[in-house]
Amino acid sequence: MNQFSSQANTFRLYKRISEQYNDQSILGSVKQLVPEKVLNLTHNGQSLKPLLHWFKYDFMKWMPKEVQCTLCNRPMRVQLDDNSATFRKTEIHMCDVCGSTQIFPRYDKILRIAETRIGRCSEWSMLFGAIVNSLSIQTRLVHDYLDHCWNESLVNKKWVHIDSTLDYPISFDHPYYYEQNWGKKYEYVLAFSANSIEDVTTRYTQQWLIVQNRRGKKDKLDEFKELYYRT
Ligand SMILES: [Zn+2]
Repeated sequence: MNQFSSQANTFRLYKRISEQYNDQSILGSVKQLVPEKVLNLTHNGQSLKPLLHWFKYDFMKWMPKEVQCTLCNRPMRVQLDDNSATFRKTEIHMCDVCGSTQIFPRYDKILRIAETRIGRCSEWSMLFGAIVNSLSIQTRLVHDYLDHCWNESLVNKKWVHIDSTLDYPISFDHPYYYEQNWGKKYEYVLAFSANSIEDVTTRYTQQWLIVQNRRGKKDKLDEFKELYYRT
């Protein structure tokens, strides 16, 4: 797959998810997943801590990139299913010793992710974003075009970094965390809404000049926007 089509594919995915963030029936369904006690502790985004804690520790499971066979304790081989019915290719993890398999479908439907309750940062951020939107806190997807994605929520009229995969308080309003701790070398960090993308890189870097050098002369944002509107 060339870079252009993989770019177009991720744009298509984020657009589809963002559209589902505007679907009241989907938001109504995901809101029902949140226990009453957690809902009561979440006051207009002033404290998303209980929600983040519930989501990470009680609700979602993490899908590792490499899976061990539960019978043989050996690493399984992973293969992408070219006949995937879903928009993204299903992962099939196979044990070469005993032949057992574990299937990991990559859903682009929020309600399917809510049923399976397993994934990596993309599934976590797609579903968590929907849940926060369902609490009437406007929330969008953010992707760093390296290997991670998270959310931003509008809290007190400001977009705030939220990452449901991390531990609180790092999961809330710690935008420099990735650069400082994971050594991220950003070019573009983009935030997605149903009909727009926004360059939010400056919010996540303390090395803006270096990032600009990395980008080179040509700003790709117009290109990204055009591609996003077309997908
Ligand atoms: Zn096995």
